[in-house]
Amino acid sequence: MQAKEILISKGVTPSRPRVAILGYLLEHYTHPTADEIFRDLRDSVPTLSLTTVYNTLKLFSELGLCLSLTINEKQACYDGHTHPHGHLLCTSCGKVYDIPQENSPLKLDSEYLHGHKVSEVHYYYKGTCSDCLSKNKNNN
Ligand SMILES: [Zn+2]
Ligand SMILES: [Zn+2]
Repeated sequence: MQAKEILISKGVTPSRPRVAILGYLLEHYTHPTADEIFRDLRDSVPTLSLTTVYNTLKLFSELGLCLSLTINEKQACYDGHTHPHGHLLCTSCGKVYDIPQENSPLKLDSEYLHGHKVSEVHYYYKGTCSDCLSKNKNNN
């Protein structure tokens, strides 16, 4: 489904900024921050403001169209992959990587936990990514 159709199916008016931001998230599974999305889209959507980007991302998170990740406490980032999966933050380069859920130590057998209904599960790992590890090796 295209961004526009997804928005319509959720009952959201497919305004130009919304279509552009959702389209961006569906093309860039790099866990971009609001600043990065704004920087990349402002030329093609001249009316875009950073406030609109923040408000739109908040709306999308509430609708389950994207995940809002707080793995990096300095800046939230956003994920167009909404199925459950873990994330690793590289403390060396700051990139956020996907970790398949199979590798997560805690697995949910049901959508209920202690009588509470779970709608989102976040697994956060921190460490050094494979790219940074191999760069460090080459430098030594
Ligand atoms: Zn790294
Ligand atoms: Zn992800």
